[in-house]
Formats: sequence, structure tokens, C-alpha cells
Amino acid sequence: MTVPRKDAGYRPLNDRVHDYGEVEQTLNYEDRAKQASRCMDCGVPFCQWGCPVGSKIPEWQDAVYRGRKDEAYFILHSTNSFPEITGRVCPAPCEKSCVLAIHDEAVTIRENECATVEQAFEAGIVVANPPKIRTGKKVAVIGSGPAGLSAADLLNRAGHLVTVFEKSDAIGGLMRYGIPDFKLSKSVIDRRLELFVDEGIIFKPNVNVGVDISKDELYNDYDAVLLAVGAEQPRDLPVEGRDLEGVYFAMDFLTQQNKKVSGKLKGDEFRILAKDKNVLVIGGGDTGSDCVGTSIRQKAKSVTQIEILPKPPEKREDNNPWPYWPNTLRTSSSHQEGCERRWSLSTKRFIGENGKLKQVELVQVDWKKDATGRWNMSEIDGTEEIIDVELALLSMGFTQPVHVGLLDTLGVEYDQRGNVKVNNKKQTSVAKLFAAGDAEKGASLVVHAIEAGKVAAKNIDAFLKG
Ligand SMILES: Cc1cc2nc3c(=O)[nH]c(=O)nc-3n(C[C@H](O)[C@H](O)[C@H](O)COP(=O)(O)OP(=O)(O)OC[C@H]3O[C@@H](n4cnc5c(N)ncnc54)[C@H](O)[C@@H]3O)c2cc1C
Ligand code: SF4
Repeated sequence: MTVPRKDAGYRPLNDRVHDYGEVEQTLNYEDRAKQASRCMDCGVPFCQWGCPVGSKIPEWQDAVYRGRKDEAYFILHSTNSFPEITGRVCPAPCEKSCVLAIHDEAVTIRENECATVEQAFEAGIVVANPPKIRTGKKVAVIGSGPAGLSAADLLNRAGHLVTVFEKSDAIGGLMRYGIPDFKLSKSVIDRRLELFVDEGIIFKPNVNVGVDISKDELYNDYDAVLLAVGAEQPRDLPVEGRDLEGVYFAMDFLTQQNKKVSGKLKGDEFRILAKDKNVLVIGGGDTGSDCVGTSIRQKAKSVTQIEILPKPPEKREDNNPWPYWPNTLRTSSSHQEGCERRWSLSTKRFIGENGKLKQVELVQVDWKKDATGRWNMSEIDGTEEIIDVELALLSMGFTQPVHVGLLDTLGVEYDQRGNVKVNNKKQTSVAKLFAAGDAEKGASLVVHAIEAGKVAAKNIDAFLKG
């Protein structure tokens, strides 16, 4: 009651926009312990209820407060293979459910998590711990995002021999080539991967399963297979001018930048660059926000982010009470760096000159509920406007996993939304084939992928042991 919430905050704006280093700062240990002391050890810890991986939050806040750094780390790690990653990129549903959030002063759970893990690494507490016994069973994990890696870690700990296949040139899924370095330094992923290698997980990047390895090879060589291939099909915007030079999917833009930072992309000849351009980011979500921050770092002339939905409220509305996830306006570090945000706008067409994007026509839209309660969108006559845009980035989310190729070849069933259909054990319709993460849930969050990997690992282990 006497210690107010204190966030570590971001690096100063004028400093951070000139590099791709992480924007978030960390508090010193004394401040962290004070922040952890704000936890009330609630009889019903709603924070844990809100956390998709069920982190035992009150227990490790207490350990942080008492200076028991190793204990804090082990409790944290017991429900999550990558607390150093969720500590950086998770939108922290735990904090939205924290009892103190009723008056907007939640415990700084996510920042405490990040600091706890960093201290544990510094103190040498986090070391490789290979399994003592091997079961002789082999598991193939296809896709190396958080779902695949979380499952791989737990299956390896259970003694199975795990091989992770990744079609890209580096392990990590969207954590590697989606999330920008200014939110998640790739050295954080590499540090954990080194431990996994020492613990016996085999990684095979540059292997496109279905192309480089056949279905028969997969089934003959492995006792169980986990599909953790993500939801890579981006939502397109099929309006006039879509094929102009200057209109790209967000992921093409973001992946290039991450590869540039890692030193894998040399030269700028074939790059999508925002420098000196008016950038329009279409889509108001996290991917869009990452395009904003990246465009600003590339020295764009201006950055505008538009969203087709109305502007969310600043505070919770009556029909969206605590402890549920708040459908309120979120402002990221990238938004603070100098971007115009607009809502209720639809894109009518891209306008070009000599094949290159020059302008975009937008129109304001209105959302109304019909008699059945469904929301309907209509354009507002006379609100059309044309703005100068030389680079448009499509960040409207992902529709489903890519069906053509591996998934169709394996013959998995899909659900109504086109995701891989699984039962509550993450089993697909095909024998010894499981699925986890965005591939079966649809595009979501790192923390949900980690949890899905845990559920899949538990059930694959049971399947292998009979
Ligand atoms: C730009 C961006 C920013 C994001 N920011 C955040 C954030 O800040 N916080 C957050 O919680 N979430 C964020 N997300 C969402 C989060 O990254 C995803 O929900 C999460 O990574 C999904 O994990 P996954 O393991 O299911 O799939 P992915 O991470 O998509 O990994 C799937 C992997 O499978 C590989 N693969 C596919 N097919 C094959 C094949 N045939 N053979 C071999 N490999 C294959 C792919 O190359 C890919 O590496 C962001 C997403 C994007 C796009
Ligand atoms: S809800 Fe908040 S105050 Fe209560 S136990 Fe969880 S973190 Fe602590």
C-alpha cells in the first residue's frame, strides 16, 4: 500500500530510434524487490488464472522480494521454457487480471519476470540439464517457433530424442524473423538454443519438410510428429493497384530488417525500404506497430497507421470488466516514436505512376449492429480522401496455416477457420501426428504457443509411453 507501481520505462526516444537495440530498460534489484513486494499473495491469484502458462506468480514475487533469485527463477521456469522471452514480448494478461489492476496499479509482473531470468543467467544458475535416461523414441518437430521449441524442450527432458526441422535459415519462428530486434534481441533466443543443443535437441534449419523430406521418410523415421508450422497465410487486400511496386506484406518488410540486423542480408539492392517515403501501415495490431517502429528506424518521411475498426475506448467499458482481457486502446513504444494513428478507415485503391505506388484512396466507414447482433460495415459517402504514400505495408493479420504442400500432403483435417483440426490432446485426424500453436489455434501470441507446445508434449509423451 505504500509502494506505488514503478515501470522501468523505455530508453529515451531520441536515442532508441537510431538503432535496433531493445527499447525497454530494467530496474535495479532493489527496485525490483520493492515492486515484487506489492504482490498481496491473493487467496485467489487472478494473475495466475489470467496467465496462459499458469505461472505461479505470487510464489515467485515472494522469492524475488526475499532475494532468493534461484528459487524465483526455478518457479518461473517450471511452467514456461522461455520466461526471458515472455518477459520481453508478452502483452501480460496476468497484469490485466491482477487484483491491483482494479485500480490500474497492477504488479509489474512482466518486467519482474524479465529481470528475474536475466539475473539468473548472470548468476550462472541457468545451465544445461540433459536427460539422464533416453527412451529410444524419436520425435520430429516441424517448425521452430515457440510452440515447436516449447514441446521440443519438454519431450527432450522426458528422454525422447527430438529433431526440430525449420525451413528458414535460423531457428525461432516468428520470434526470429517477425518480432523486431528492438522488442526482442536475437541473442536472447540464441542463448536458450545453446542450452537446448547441450541438452541433446537436434536442430535442422534450412529443411522444408514436405519438400526436402517426404511424408514417408517422416513416418518411417519418427515415432511421433508435431506440426508447429504457424499460421503463415497473410490476409491480403485485393483492391485496385495491389500489384504496384511499393505495396508489400508486413512480414516481407520485417523479415528483411531482422536479417539485415543479424548480418545475413548484405546490401540494399533488393530491399523494401521506408527511407524518405510516406509509409502507410494498413492494420492496427501488433504487426502493424512493429512496421511503424521499423519504418521510423529506417528514417521514413512520415508514418501513418490505419485500422478499419473504430478507435477502442481508453478505459474498460461496462461489458468488459476486470479480470478479463481489456479491449482498450494500446499504445506501443513504436507508436510513441512519431506516427499518426487513425481508425474506421478502409482502403479503396492503390494509385500508381509507371508501376510504382504514389497514393492511396481511403474512405471512412461506419459500424452498426443488425437485427441479429452482427456488426456490419458501410462506407460513409463523401468521406473519400487521397493521401500520398510511396510504401504501403499490409499488416491485417494471418488467415490460417498454408495448406498447399505439407499439410495437404499429410492429409490433415481442417477446422472451420482453416486451422489444423486437433482434439484436446492436440492430436490431428492422422495417426501419430499432433499439432500445436498458431497452426491449430490461428495467429495468436507467443505465450499461447508455449502453452500449446506444453499440452502437445505431455500428450505425445503419453502416446509414446503407451
Ligand atoms: C510481426 C509480428 C510480431 C509479433 N509480436 C508479438 C509479440 O510482441 N508478442 C507476442 O506474444 N506475440 C507476437 N506475435 C505473435 C507470435 O509471434 C506468434 O503467435 C507465435 O510465434 C506463434 O508460434 P508458433 O510456434 O505457433 O509459430 P511460428 O512462430 O510462426 O513458427 C512456425 C515455424 O514453422 C516453420 N515452418 C512452416 N512450415 C514448415 C515446413 N514445411 N518445414 C519446416 N519448417 C516449417 C516456419 O518457417 C516458422 O519458423 C507477433 C507476430 C508477428 C507476425
Ligand atoms: S493478483 Fe496481483 S496481487 Fe494478487 S497474487 Fe497475483 S500478482 Fe499478487
